Amino acid sequence: MGRFDGRIAVVTGAARGIGLGVATRFAEEGASVAVLDLDEDQAAKAAASLGSDNGQKHLGISCDVSDSASVQAAVARVVSEVGGLHILVNNAGITRDNLLFKMSDDDWDQVIAVHLRGAFLMSRAAQKVFVEQKFGKVVCLSSVSALGNRGQANYAAAKMGIQGFVRTLAIELGPYGVNVNAIAPGFIASDMTDATAARVGMSVEDFRAAAAGRNPVRRVGFPEDIAAAAAFLCSNEASYITGQTLYVDGGAKLVS
Ligand code: NAP
Repeated sequence: MGRFDGRIAVVTGAARGIGLGVATRFAEEGASVAVLDLDEDQAAKAAASLGSDNGQKHLGISCDVSDSASVQAAVARVVSEVGGLHILVNNAGITRDNLLFKMSDDDWDQVIAVHLRGAFLMSRAAQKVFVEQKFGKVVCLSSVSALGNRGQANYAAAKMGIQGFVRTLAIELGPYGVNVNAIAPGFIASDMTDATAARVGMSVEDFRAAAAGRNPVRRVGFPEDIAAAAAFLCSNEASYITGQTLYVDGGAKLVS
């Protein structure tokens, strides 16, 4: 008996990294999972990798979360082909790091579009189902970078925006049985942080070791760390928690 038996979850950007970690955990705990990502083949491959001991139905769908029509079509497919929707994890993300004087219009617009507009479009599409059934769970990915990070004016603005977004949705949707929270990860080993290592000219090993040295628990995080927090926030045990941002960062925020 899993915490998500009979539940249907959508995880955006779940073809790899943190999103795939979250999708895997939800499936292990009994949920049917729709994997949304830009590339249809990668999304399908990720969905096929999820366990289905409970007879679940997983689905990979190509979706650009920053595109309204694409989001509406994807959510409609989940509802009709998987049979409903109970949980939404807004995880899809990109970075376009640059110091302010070098940051292009596109660097700014793309990051805001994927993180903020994407979370807005997905949540708006899902809330229709959630409010009608008087049940829903939304988790959005923020970041410790929301607190400020050199070279990430676009990303920090988006990730702090997410925190205001979840607080507001929590107020609006709480009366309809919908919990809305954010997770703010610290350094998580993924393609995203590996790409940053390459950009700053460090090996992945050295980059991760440096990040581990900057937090009290002296290790980097892994997608499983975020998946455990997301599973808790989407479980019935967390039904009295809403509008919060949970930092999952090995204590990095305490010492930065
Ligand atoms: P990742 O490995 O780069 O994976 C991100 C996924 O999102 C990719 O599969 C990517 O697809 C997909 N994606 C990008 N744009 C999309 C769009 N418009 N529509 C749908 N999917 C899209 O990143 P991650 O490290 O797992 O990060 C996941 C989330 O956690 C992000 O929101 C990130 O900001 C946040 N976060 C990460 C860290 C960290 O240390 N890794 C720390 C704090 C917060 P493609 O492969 O096709 O590009």
